[in-house]
Amino acid sequence: MENRSFSDISFESFLTEGKLMGSRCGQCGKLYVPPRPICPGCHGSQMDWVAMSGKGKLAAFTCIAIGPAAMIAEGYNRDNPYCSAVIELDEGARVDARLEGIDPKKPEEIGVGMPLKVKCGHRGDKKPYLAFEPQ
Ligand SMILES: [Zn+2]
Repeated sequence: MENRSFSDISFESFLTEGKLMGSRCGQCGKLYVPPRPICPGCHGSQMDWVAMSGKGKLAAFTCIAIGPAAMIAEGYNRDNPYCSAVIELDEGARVDARLEGIDPKKPEEIGVGMPLKVKCGHRGDKKPYLAFEPQ
């Protein structure tokens, strides 16, 4: 159905279209988000694109006050921290993304296991973004 190569570039082009996509190994069935061209589990290269429902739960998170330059440029700093999270999707894959719709200054109110839904698309400069927020 999709001819795009299984790369981060394709993954990001789907994000700008508001789609969270992964690749599923045709040999062992394992799912990867972002997609992988070769399955790290069985080394199979028969990948298929799979659309994610965009729902999952919080597996882990960190609130970051001093981030990389790109985040500082977006206005994040000690007074305006952000949260980086690992989300376990309903489909079983794990994905790293920004956590939004929560207060990064109150990490005690953020609970591992809380249900999340995806927010993706692009910002003004067409830069893809991927975030999750509470359902
Ligand atoms: Zn495999």
